[in-house]
Amino acid sequence: MNSDIKLFENGKRLDGRKNDELRKIKIEVGVLHRAEGSCYLEWGDNKVIVAVYGPREAIPRHTQNPLRAIVNAKYNMAAFSVGDRKRPGPDRRSREISKVISEALENVILVEKFPRASIDVNIEVLDAEAGTRCAGLTAAAVALADAGIPMKDIPVACAAGKIENQVVLDLGKEEDNYGSADLPIAISPRTGEILLLQMDGHLTVEEFDKALDLAIKGCYIVSDIQKKAILEKYQPNSEGK
Ligand code: UDP
Repeated sequence: MNSDIKLFENGKRLDGRKNDELRKIKIEVGVLHRAEGSCYLEWGDNKVIVAVYGPREAIPRHTQNPLRAIVNAKYNMAAFSVGDRKRPGPDRRSREISKVISEALENVILVEKFPRASIDVNIEVLDAEAGTRCAGLTAAAVALADAGIPMKDIPVACAAGKIENQVVLDLGKEEDNYGSADLPIAISPRTGEILLLQMDGHLTVEEFDKALDLAIKGCYIVSDIQKKAILEKYQPNSEGK
């Protein structure tokens, strides 16, 4: 943490947000012609596109599970998505994010319905400004719904963190770089079950509880935006109600 960088100005965060305020989120459903389900999502300055294929026969065959489908989420950050050009292709970070997102999605998709199949979820980050795993998972959930994949619920993700000794919702880029902790989570909003929880940095037990509560509240706000976007496509006259 660099203590010279000030993350609050006149009691407000650098982008003017309150501590419990999310960045602006925009979701579009069914943006790709070829994919079975797709979603374009903007979350602050993050831009993410997701294409879902399947369920289809898992290839190579040794990856097949005779009892259920495998969920194969692939998170990729485009080389042009960050300030310093990123080396193209998978790295440790993107493998880790792909794994935790696959596991989170596997817990809500009715995988037993599709033995030997694979459900492929391609997550491409076009613009990365902190919080891309949450943006990616949230968009993936919408793309899965668009593909008609049966799920127990539409999962959703959001992070909270700590900057200058304050717990805040949804860290922006400077906050992520110079703050002291980030706690991205994903939940099943219907049951409240936690599907993903990671933590970067340090929090006391009290701060952790506060950050978790705040991230869960954020998830419910994002969940409403997801549902509204899905209804806008499938029931255009319902106005998302
Ligand atoms: N980032 C970057 N280059 C990288 C990886 C990450 O510039 O190779 C930036 C990017 O803006 C990303 C942010 O650092 O959104 C935070 O990355 P983190 O690993 O915490 O994941 P995220 O918050 O995006 O889920």
